[in-house]
Amino acid sequence: MPDSAHGDGLAELLASLDAPLRFLRDAEPGREARVRLPLAAWLERLRVIASAEEPGPLRDGIGGLVQILEKLGRAEATEARRFAGSALDAVHGIRSARPSEGAPATSRPRPVRVETGGERAREPVGGSRGSREGGLPGLAAPAAGVTGSAEVRPAVDASIAEVEAWLAVASSPTSAVPGVGPARARELERFELPTVEDLLYHLPFRYEDRRARRLVREMVPGESATAKLEIRRVDERRAGPGGRRTVLSVTAGDETGVVELVWFNQVRWFRSRLKRGDRWIVHGKVERGYQSSLRITHPEMESVEDRDESESSSRVLPVYEKPTAMPASAMRRVVHAAVEAFAGRVPDAVPAEIRRQQGLLSLGEALREVHRPGAHAQVGELGAFRSAAHRAIVFDEFFFVQLGLLLRKAEAARETGIAFAPPGTLVERLFDSLPFPLTGAQRRVIGEIAADQAKPHPMHRLLQGDVGSGKTVVAVAASLRAIECGWQAVVMAPTELLAEQHWETIRRVAGGLGVPLWYLSGEVWAAARREVLGRLEAGEAGLVVGTHALIQEGVRFGRLGLAVIDEQHRFGVMQRAGLARATGGGSAPDVLLMSATPIPRTRALSLYGDLDLSWLDEMPPGRKPVHTTVHGMNQRRRAYEVVRREIAAGRQAFVVYPLIEESEASDLRDATSAADELRAEIFPDLRIALVHGRMPAAERDATMRDFKERRYDLLVATTVIEVGIDVPNASVIVIEHAERFGLAQLHQLRGRVGRGADEAYCLLVADWAQSKEAKERLAVMTETNDGLRIAEADMAIRGAGTLLGTRQSGQPDFRVASLERDGEILEKARAAAKELLDADPSFSGAASRVVRRVLEARWKGRLSLARIG
Ligand code: ADP
Ligand code: MG
Repeated sequence: MPDSAHGDGLAELLASLDAPLRFLRDAEPGREARVRLPLAAWLERLRVIASAEEPGPLRDGIGGLVQILEKLGRAEATEARRFAGSALDAVHGIRSARPSEGAPATSRPRPVRVETGGERAREPVGGSRGSREGGLPGLAAPAAGVTGSAEVRPAVDASIAEVEAWLAVASSPTSAVPGVGPARARELERFELPTVEDLLYHLPFRYEDRRARRLVREMVPGESATAKLEIRRVDERRAGPGGRRTVLSVTAGDETGVVELVWFNQVRWFRSRLKRGDRWIVHGKVERGYQSSLRITHPEMESVEDRDESESSSRVLPVYEKPTAMPASAMRRVVHAAVEAFAGRVPDAVPAEIRRQQGLLSLGEALREVHRPGAHAQVGELGAFRSAAHRAIVFDEFFFVQLGLLLRKAEAARETGIAFAPPGTLVERLFDSLPFPLTGAQRRVIGEIAADQAKPHPMHRLLQGDVGSGKTVVAVAASLRAIECGWQAVVMAPTELLAEQHWETIRRVAGGLGVPLWYLSGEVWAAARREVLGRLEAGEAGLVVGTHALIQEGVRFGRLGLAVIDEQHRFGVMQRAGLARATGGGSAPDVLLMSATPIPRTRALSLYGDLDLSWLDEMPPGRKPVHTTVHGMNQRRRAYEVVRREIAAGRQAFVVYPLIEESEASDLRDATSAADELRAEIFPDLRIALVHGRMPAAERDATMRDFKERRYDLLVATTVIEVGIDVPNASVIVIEHAERFGLAQLHQLRGRVGRGADEAYCLLVADWAQSKEAKERLAVMTETNDGLRIAEADMAIRGAGTLLGTRQSGQPDFRVASLERDGEILEKARAAAKELLDADPSFSGAASRVVRRVLEARWKGRLSLARIG
């Protein structure tokens, strides 16, 4: 039968049902509980297929199978085997109802595209590879012939059936892993490892090399060692105050000497197991004990009998993060069981062609290698996450993120936008009227934007510029460009206060140009508001300023040409995606996002790969760096002296705290009680105000406005002032508990001062008990005022991590990849993704089907793939 609506999907699905059902049917009594079938996924797909099918025997057959599988889902363990048998019969029934499906799937080889290395027959998905160690055949088949070495095998494209089968398995609970019961599964779920896939991607954070076994004579105090030792003596003794603790002391040795093994915990457990004359593999850090004897405290013990001797001398043991209560060996066992059962099922969704070019291991092999390194593994590379196996995993991760971002970008490029033409004179007049010359960077960026504006597709550009780099002028120039061509522009900020500040600046620089300028906020009176709304809807060319809510509230623009969104990290990605729809009539407007949280280029590429980037990497001349110093808690007085001196000279000050109110859990100073203390004891003569995030926004904005108008000398605040408040007269900021803040945040806070012509000061008061990392952070603050350098230092200190303030809702995070470590792989993955899209822009080729399915799964609805191809 030429396949109908479902293409080859039904045949593939039926083939993949065969083996797991057979396995369940034949399961030993009592073992059925181990067999977790991806029933929900199967049912969903069967229902979709059935609904697309014409009435007839085929549809009835599918309907019958659906009913049986539903029953199977509700069945008791013993019954389950019976239903599995019926389901299997139904599967075979449907197949024989399909003329093209004569032979049973298990003996029908799937045609494969063999890329290199000659013929390589592949078994069909779900084919019977025999029941191995009680795992699910089909679901459990490991990649054939995986040796754990870094040999690159011929790359073959995954089939869609493999992908579907894997996606169903990947999301199964960890109890699908042999040996994992419900209690352990719950424990793993609490540890944020709820699924099989999570376990596979839970990579070891370090490795122990036990290949070189030592003799006691060769042990060096201070170093870890692995040795095969015989138990010679087992002693229990009392220790601690009043002899309340029991300590287990075991003497063990080989022909060259003895070591003392000591336990303070689990004494009884080990006492009952360690018998004189038995031999154990002992691993641990060697210390110097009494009278230069050797001692190992809490060694890891493996009974020689427990394991294959030939393997024991050649082992590199992975070490995993784990729930506290779970023994390291148990965690290892669980992950390894998952690898044994499922790693071979992980399809290679990155096209074979690309994997070959990049010399990548297959994903399944790579996962196996990082979890169970082979005898010749390079422990250094593994531990540094730089092995060939890690590379394959990281590449795969980056590839799909970049592909998604590029697709979004391509989508935008296909949209119809407005080609702004011909230019008028407004922008020229703006430049002439400014009291300062533009910086080189401003001129360059305004040019980049103008070029986008002239194109017939909507602009999606992110403008990055440090605090004070002069983004507002750029936004105004872009707006005027739209207006002089007869269109409307909107500038939006995350809060009322910021919108108001923009309004002031914009009125100052553009007020004299004769362009209609409007301000819309919650505080604008209804009548005035209605008038502005009317003119916007009528399409009158002009510039409107407001909060991000302007778009969400559905203000209607008759002729919107440009939307500028400031502090875009407060503006979610999903909102970003919805913007064009919310405002577009026929043609989507240009969108300019602005960010004052500079991030390193590689980071930007991965977070904003769907945007074009502009960098305002030059400060207006004459900016002075803010003097920054770090003070211990007991040097707070010194900081306050600076505050007093500056206020006496007519300036104003901020004091920032991490918390609003005292919390029982910590001894952090909080803004509320600190404000009381400052008023009562330290600065009784000063006018002090308090703002924090839990105040009503209107009250908070009013207080900040009062501060700006100098009705207060000192503003006590939480980080609500982080974004954008512009008080040129403020010359000093004290940041309490500075060790608690991230670098990006400290930089933003510091940006609140030094906005005028005067010298400015940033005083970081930090707890002495600060971590080494916190110390490094604070040192960076004293060394530079450059936002980009600070962001780079932040990444270097924290490794991968997320940069404060840049983590976005809806942005994919990385499971294994690190932007800092893997920047080079990121660029390659991006280039490869780009090449793939260039070769198949409609994204509809056969290989693209697999890629597309995996992409969908990774992005979980965050891409509108429906519109592609
Ligand atoms: P940000 O990038 O932080 O939004 P702003 O646009 O608010 O920076 O600019 C900060 C200040 O610098 C404003 O007072 C602005 O008028 C001024 N400014 C902008 N560009 C220049 C320039 N080229 N030369 C001198 N001052 C400038
Ligand atoms: Mg700004």
